[in-house]
Amino acid sequence: MGDKTKIDWCDSTWNPVTGCYHDCQYCYARNIAHRFSGGGENWTDDKIIVLDERKYDEFEENRALAYPYGFKPTLHRYKLDEYATKKGRNIFVCSMADLFGNWVPDSWLDEVFEACEKAPQHNYLFLTKNPKRYIDYDVSCDRNKWYGTSICKNTDMKKCEHLPLRANKFISIEPILECLDIISSPIINWVDWVIVGAETGRRKDKVIPQRKWIEDIVNECKANEKPVFMKSSLADIWGEPLIQKFPRELKHKED
Ligand code: SF4
Repeated sequence: MGDKTKIDWCDSTWNPVTGCYHDCQYCYARNIAHRFSGGGENWTDDKIIVLDERKYDEFEENRALAYPYGFKPTLHRYKLDEYATKKGRNIFVCSMADLFGNWVPDSWLDEVFEACEKAPQHNYLFLTKNPKRYIDYDVSCDRNKWYGTSICKNTDMKKCEHLPLRANKFISIEPILECLDIISSPIINWVDWVIVGAETGRRKDKVIPQRKWIEDIVNECKANEKPVFMKSSLADIWGEPLIQKFPRELKHKED
């Protein structure tokens, strides 16, 4: 992924690991990876792949072949130092993967976290559907690391109990697929930031959220004095202006 991002709650994305074996129907990353794979998914039977260098610099018409093995989990080792010398920013780590999927070896996590340690000027935002791995791997709870989990349905809310106790924590309610019983749940009080967004793309069974679903979340955030960030995908449902608040620790000086 490029330096700047279209993901509006971070400054940049960084993808030293790409690919995922979850099977979310609404996944945008899978489509992108297949589009820029050149059909390479079938080039190996390996379940996980390590690339020490970008082997395929160019594809037809000079288009970069960024995901030579499609959506198969891949460590792009040559990307580990991508932000080492860049100015401090909020970085979403692995927008094209689930870095904490059970198929990701501890050694890959070691390499990603070592790269984070070498560039402490940044804030790192991790997001997973499998937060139990945060605990199993025993992630470091430094002030510049943020650990999130995705919630789409009521059944996902229980996963929040695996967010590391002493760390900065957030939830990404995206895509919201049903009305969440958020008022009966302690999770808003438990986390430090809430992101909410609607499904994008043109999936046949795409879910368009009702305004009331969003209002419940916003009201609960207000009641608990927690910042909420609405993604631009909510503009048609909520109208302008969207509420786009950041935790104090992630705000830029000029904000
Ligand atoms: S967890 Fe994320 S990357 Fe993996 S399939 Fe689901 S949406 Fe895609």
